[in-house]
Amino acid sequence: MSNIHHHLTDATLLSYSAGNLAEHMSLVVATHLAMCPACRKRMEDMDTIGGIELYAGDTMAVSNDIKDTLFAMLDQPIIMEEIKVADRKSGDSDVPQPLGQFLPDNLQNIQWRNMAPGIKQFPLENVQAGNGTVCLLKIAPGVTIPEHGHGGTELTLILKGSFSDEVGRFKPGDIADLDENTEHQPIADTAEDCICLIATEAPLKFKSLLPKVMQYFVGM
Ligand SMILES: [Zn+2]
Repeated sequence: MSNIHHHLTDATLLSYSAGNLAEHMSLVVATHLAMCPACRKRMEDMDTIGGIELYAGDTMAVSNDIKDTLFAMLDQPIIMEEIKVADRKSGDSDVPQPLGQFLPDNLQNIQWRNMAPGIKQFPLENVQAGNGTVCLLKIAPGVTIPEHGHGGTELTLILKGSFSDEVGRFKPGDIADLDENTEHQPIADTAEDCICLIATEAPLKFKSLLPKVMQYFVGM
């Protein structure tokens, strides 16, 4: 069984499969999909339903009963195979594959930049991010990211270590898929550094002044 407990929302999967996500958001979605058999399966099923609706198109309306049945099938628990090493790693690398082209072979070889006490950043400068951002963060054990909301969707994929917020505990492979209406305050768990990949559609909205000043300098 997979150890992943926090997944992409259906809205995000649909946008991704329709090609409606910006490059930096797609990168995070693709990286989670590479690690998560459950989301891969769900997206395949969605594509199938989309195909049925398209096929039925002009000739017959798909009844709501059929749609309800199909969506109920999607909600059935599925038996997942163990994630194969090949799904998430190439050779000895601990970097999941879609992300690999933008990073050194191993997370420990990343050239981090200091961002704030206990927080280091590695921007993915070759990825188009529009008005948003995409970067890796390395958060020291026990350090809190100041409480913030979002101007749009924020995707946070855990690569190493773990953090907790109002929603729960996030471990490697878990993704926080948060919309503009959610505020949260992630705290890195105490055992080790937490490394995560973050993409935002719009600048974060911090609630207090100090992070706002920090934001001005680091451009998140
Ligand atoms: Zn998933």
